[in-house]
Amino acid sequence: MANTQIAAARAGTVTDAMERVAEREHRDSEFVRKQIADGQAVIPANRHHDALDPMIIGREFATKVNANIGNSETTSDLETELEKLHTAVHYGADTVMDLGTGSDLDEIRETHLEYSPVPLGTVPLYEAVKRAGSPEDLTPELLLEVIEKQARQGVDYMTIHAGILAEHLPLTDGRKTGIVSRGGSIMASWMETHGEQNPLFQVYDEICEIFAEHDVTFSLGDSLRPGCLADTCDEAQYAELDTLGELTRRAWDHDVQVMVEGPGHVPMNKVAENVERQQSICDGAPFYVLGPLVTDIAPGYDHITSAIGAAMAAQAGAAMLCYVTPKEHLGLPTEEDVRDGLAAYRIAAHAGDVGNGRPGARDWDDALSEARYEFDWREQFALALDPDRAREYHDQTLPEDNYKDARFCSMCGVEFCSMRIDQDARDLESGEMAALETTTDLEASAAAAVNLPPVGTHDSSGDFLELADSIGDDAARGRSSEDSSTQGASDD
Ligand code: SF4
Repeated sequence: MANTQIAAARAGTVTDAMERVAEREHRDSEFVRKQIADGQAVIPANRHHDALDPMIIGREFATKVNANIGNSETTSDLETELEKLHTAVHYGADTVMDLGTGSDLDEIRETHLEYSPVPLGTVPLYEAVKRAGSPEDLTPELLLEVIEKQARQGVDYMTIHAGILAEHLPLTDGRKTGIVSRGGSIMASWMETHGEQNPLFQVYDEICEIFAEHDVTFSLGDSLRPGCLADTCDEAQYAELDTLGELTRRAWDHDVQVMVEGPGHVPMNKVAENVERQQSICDGAPFYVLGPLVTDIAPGYDHITSAIGAAMAAQAGAAMLCYVTPKEHLGLPTEEDVRDGLAAYRIAAHAGDVGNGRPGARDWDDALSEARYEFDWREQFALALDPDRAREYHDQTLPEDNYKDARFCSMCGVEFCSMRIDQDARDLESGEMAALETTTDLEASAAAAVNLPPVGTHDSSGDFLELADSIGDDAARGRSSEDSSTQGASDD
């Protein structure tokens, strides 16, 4: 029997990882086990990733957010890559994908795994292309060698572009933007050059055996995702999805966990259709969507265009959202772009959870609203999704400390502050405002950890502080201790 979470679940065993995610999600561990056994959720937890704090991805659990990091040929050093990991975890990434294509990939990956409390994902195809020298020189043997090495290193989940087949390629001919997935374009180029079937499809069962040995989770890549609204839901996209459904079942036959990646660029009226179709064809395997961007017109603001689609996808049943930064389509994101992208996606994920009525998800909203109506500015900042940003914006116009007790802000001013006017009127009528008090107790909330502040889910963990030390980030340490002491809702 494979030594994987799904194999254990199918055998009726509740593993330590299942116990831990049950605790973080406030769910019954037997329910977690059943969801894993049925393939409806995954716990990406490679047996060699010792620093991992297990988490779960599935539509019955809090919606998760992934952040992509990684170097390129032009920007590449270990310290910078560790800072990217720290920034992603600090601002609330539930998983991180290292899409590095620069130098020192092994050292960077191993260091990430040494420190990262969140699951780490990769696209092994990128390293294989670097080693081969060009997409055309890839071989099935080299792909397997790289996949096995990364599995031994401890990578928790890997994007495998096995669903794009030679017979799908003519279906992309009439597209406005062709094949926009990096991995998809590499596989298509290889198939056209060699006149053979996708090598990842050829060796899929061998990949399953490697994944079963180390407990790596599949993230089945959507190589033919639409790159613009005009290409949405076309024959090519849905033909590949049918193959991804077959590959899902083949992985399950090997006792390997699976999630399936999804688009891309999708207009609002097609978002739910995409989720429902994937759920039907892939028998409920968790859907991991990139955005989707609901319009193509806003380069520079694609964290917003895509967060709209992401919130809709979350409400329709997507389990994890891959963030998009303002730099999408334009360049490598900076730290500030990562912060903005993660904020947009934490909002989308939380909004989806509130819309879906996840137990306790709205408690955070209620607690913040109560602080707002009480003019408890310090508490409002502390509860904000990005406390530093909220405080900074308030203090731009009213920086003095006495304004932290003011019954107005600079938006409407003292005379026209509607909440102040409303409270005064109620006080005059009945004196009821004297009894105004907070009623939402976040300590007692049934919400999953990701639905409670602070957003950075691992800020106070020892590993995180060790990581902060390693990159000399005093600011991170300050934020960590402040958050855990003032908000008291850290899950670690
Ligand atoms: S001044 Fe306006 S924005 Fe500011 S607290 Fe009062 S009602 Fe809200």
